[in-house]
Amino acid sequence: MDFKTYMCVICGYVYDEEKGEPDEGIPAGTLWADIPDDWKCPDCEATKIDFELIEI
Ligand SMILES: [Zn+2]
Repeated sequence: MDFKTYMCVICGYVYDEEKGEPDEGIPAGTLWADIPDDWKCPDCEATKIDFELIEI
């Protein structure tokens, strides 16, 4: 499985598809595309459009 990582361009929070965000109700392995459009950054409440795909 080729998981990707996305970063909030506002605060630098990183979402890793492999890890998910269990504290926010997003199970590990949840693909970015499967996260609800009304999901917000846990740190600054930016929306999904404020995230960029990053290579690590
Ligand atoms: Zn953020």
